[in-house]
Amino acid sequence: MSAVTLAQTRAQSAAETALPPEVYRQAVNQTDLAISITDDKANILFANEAFTRVTGYSRQEIFGKNESVLSNLNNSLELYAAMWAELSAQRPWSGKLLNRRKDGEIYLAELSISPVIDASGKTTHFLGMHRNVTELHRLERLVRNQKNLIESVVDAAPMAFALLDPSGRIILDNQEYKKLVTDLGVKEPAHSLLDSLFLSWREALAHQPEQCVFANREARIDRPAGRARWLSVTTSVIEMQSDCADSYFCGAGQPGLLVVVADITNLRDEQERARTAGLQAVLAEEERTAAIREGLSAAIFRLEEPMNVMASAASVLQRRDPAAAAALQQALSISREHLETLRQVIPQSPQEIVVGVNLNEILRDVLEVSTPRLLAAGVMVDWQPAATLPTILGRPLQLRMLFKALVDNAVEAMNFKGWKRRELSISSAVNREHIVISLIDSGPGIPNEWQHKVFEPFFTTKNGSGRHVGTGLSRAQQVVADHGGVIDFEQSASGGCAVIVEFRLDGDPI
Ligand code: FAD
Repeated sequence: MSAVTLAQTRAQSAAETALPPEVYRQAVNQTDLAISITDDKANILFANEAFTRVTGYSRQEIFGKNESVLSNLNNSLELYAAMWAELSAQRPWSGKLLNRRKDGEIYLAELSISPVIDASGKTTHFLGMHRNVTELHRLERLVRNQKNLIESVVDAAPMAFALLDPSGRIILDNQEYKKLVTDLGVKEPAHSLLDSLFLSWREALAHQPEQCVFANREARIDRPAGRARWLSVTTSVIEMQSDCADSYFCGAGQPGLLVVVADITNLRDEQERARTAGLQAVLAEEERTAAIREGLSAAIFRLEEPMNVMASAASVLQRRDPAAAAALQQALSISREHLETLRQVIPQSPQEIVVGVNLNEILRDVLEVSTPRLLAAGVMVDWQPAATLPTILGRPLQLRMLFKALVDNAVEAMNFKGWKRRELSISSAVNREHIVISLIDSGPGIPNEWQHKVFEPFFTTKNGSGRHVGTGLSRAQQVVADHGGVIDFEQSASGGCAVIVEFRLDGDPI
């Protein structure tokens, strides 16, 4: 023993000697814990006042009796054997026993028994301390039963639940939520949904959680295989009490966000079917209008060439044969008038307003509308959408027309006799400040020398059918440019055509 420890022990002994034995007795007597001291056979030699209160036996009654009078006789023999094994090895034992009070009432006792060992190393007595923990046990069971009840109700609920702590960690969920994880193939559906509905939810949850509260907001989760899932999301802030020891004296809790997710896919599918039918009609009408517009534009463009030649001829003739030149000029100006009349009857599409647009939805629409065409041409579509996409500002009809034109081009490129590989891979992704849409076909691709020309108005590689006037891609480029994006044609790894369209997340369409 070190000098310091020896000195400390001596000081402690001196202090204990200075304390009168009466103080010990009073302290043991008055403590609220049932205390008993027995001989080495568990016969009671001393019991304090609390012992009397807890067991119902007076001190006179209990003196000389064995502690076993308290036994309810229902405790297992193994339990006593384990207790005595510890005590016989001069080790303290603690545990819970069912005791019976003098009046027959059963109570749950939390016990701690310590052997008292004399100087020769022999156990001479036992010190027993116990308290009635029946009420505590009842409350514990009540809490556990309530927890089981809540968990089974939550698990049986047809909605998915997830409780998030202020850092966004999921601390509680239910079976439906777990199913959602598997079905959607995303790590935390609650995070993906909040990302798509409220991009800065993490920051808000940490500092102003009430900003994250909303009801029945609909979100769409796209999956590579199978149909898109529509989920209705409702959130509420829940005050959670911390279970850390240092929070014992501080009542303030921390906010948790309860996210409740209901699957509304079937309902939305029905609405979608009706919408797609309507959309099909709108796109068909828009395509018809565009075809007339482009046909007339191409006709005007082609008529202007000979008229320009006539204008040069008229100016050459002016000096040699003014009369002929005047006749030519007159014919020219009448032609120009007719051309102008023609220009004025070119049908224009109504100006669309700019709204928040989800490009996954646009692409889904286009695929939906193009399905008959894709099937007829035997084209296999591989749809790889980003699970969620932030909305961008845009004109939905124009964007649908854009992607439909690109899908139509791809189908047409592969749909000719003898071409076997007919695959179209469409994907969406978020790449820092951009949304990137790729359409990669397995067709013959666009020759290098045409890669830039394809955007020129009236440039077409297709001839004969009369349907192609070569304005499709220049119009596509115009739509992309109007949305502040870029469109590029590349050769895919398989030699086909890869169209990459990029839109800025903060794009501001003109
Ligand atoms: P017992 O015949 O008393 O004992 C059952 C088994 O325990 C025996 O077969 C034996 O293996 C072992 N055993 C008993 N006495 C000894 C011993 N002296 N040395 C080694 N092994 C032994 N019991 C309660 O039910 N409630 C209490 O609140 C309680 N408080 C206790 C407080 C103290 C300080 C001590 C020392 C014991 C306490 N006991 C208590 C235990 C009690 O003495 C009995 O052992 C127990 O109640 C079982 O009683 P029994 O009549 O069924 O069997």
